[in-house]
Amino acid sequence: MANEQILKVWIEPGCIVCDACQTTCPEVFEVQAESCVIRPEALVAEFLRDKTDAIRLAAEECPVEVIRFETGPAQG
Ligand code: SF4
Repeated sequence: MANEQILKVWIEPGCIVCDACQTTCPEVFEVQAESCVIRPEALVAEFLRDKTDAIRLAAEECPVEVIRFETGPAQG
């Protein structure tokens, strides 16, 4: 929903280390040698809220669809 913001994001097993998510949203995703990880600062809901659009796009672009997220009502 348009008035929902992302509060939590994680990566399921199966990342193929394609770099797409880091290119789309480098504040949240960091591609390492064998998998992509969520940056430590991006484990906080308040950090994620205003990056909702970029995270949604990254999830759509992930070729193996392993980027998952939870949303909640928008604030602020
Ligand atoms: S877009 Fe998907 S497959 Fe590619 S690095 Fe990110 S999580 Fe891994």
